Amino acid sequence: SYVPSIELNDGHHIPQLGFGVFLVDPEQTERIVTDALEAGYRHIDTAAIYGNEEGVGRAIAASGIPRDELFITTKLWNDAQGTQSAFDAIDASLEKLGLDSVDLYLIHWPTPQRDLYAETWRAMERIKADGKARSIGVSNFLRPHLERILAESNTVPAIDQIELHPALQSRELTEFARSQGIHIEAWGPLGQGKYPLFDEPAVVAAAEAHGKTPAQAVIRWHLQHGNIVFPKSNNAGRMAENFDVLDFTLTSDEMAGIDALERGQRVGSHPDEFN
Ligand code: NAD
Repeated sequence: SYVPSIELNDGHHIPQLGFGVFLVDPEQTERIVTDALEAGYRHIDTAAIYGNEEGVGRAIAASGIPRDELFITTKLWNDAQGTQSAFDAIDASLEKLGLDSVDLYLIHWPTPQRDLYAETWRAMERIKADGKARSIGVSNFLRPHLERILAESNTVPAIDQIELHPALQSRELTEFARSQGIHIEAWGPLGQGKYPLFDEPAVVAAAEAHGKTPAQAVIRWHLQHGNIVFPKSNNAGRMAENFDVLDFTLTSDEMAGIDALERGQRVGSHPDEFN
């Protein structure tokens, strides 16, 4: 079985299942991303603020995997919002990654107090036009933030990467985004291990019915909802486990059981408050 590919609103394609490197120690990133590439992942999600773009770049270079078989995302940190600072930020990220372009470049947070995200989005349009990012999108944007950039630019974001897991499904936001042609990436897809998701009876039952682990059942739930996901693990066994989710399908009852775990519970910051 192979990883499904999703067509974005600009015609480019993204592997629906990838590997995230938030909190991966920069000193260990090359080894951990090398393990992930060996496990079969071809989509890596990093960010300038993670401090590990060099390690990602070294793993890519050492892998020998053709560039066009990889999908690499990075993100513009909050202090780089603005026009010239955004141009400088993508150049710095490309230098660290050792790449001519990323597949996806995201504004990491809207930081509405700065009131710079609309201007930054117009800089992102230039970054795409210059070929430094094949696709551009946003992260942690709520509906009002999306509506503002839709009104003030000519480009619909390809992606909104938001906190999304069974206890925080943000259904109104995801429905609005999808209605505009914006695909949803789910960060913290396993709830970052911050609440006992894997003990939930609905998750355990779905996993047992298919001879899978609770983590695999939750990743499958995301994929069947159309979410793009990149669970993180430093452990090669769990990397392989999280990738081994392409050979079973949850029933509609199993999906509904996990859907019912919604309780508006964030594990990360609120996008209107984070600066
Ligand atoms: P996650 O939900 O992927 O949880 C990761 C944790 O879950 C691991 O540290 C591990 O403790 C546990 N885990 C992983 N696989 C497991 C398994 N098979 N069994 C049991 N436990 C397992 O959280 P995340 O890393 O925060 O999110 C994934 C990616 O999303 C990040 O690495 C990063 O790329 C991205 N992200 C983006 C933002 C943003 O603001 N845009 C914020 C956080 C994360």
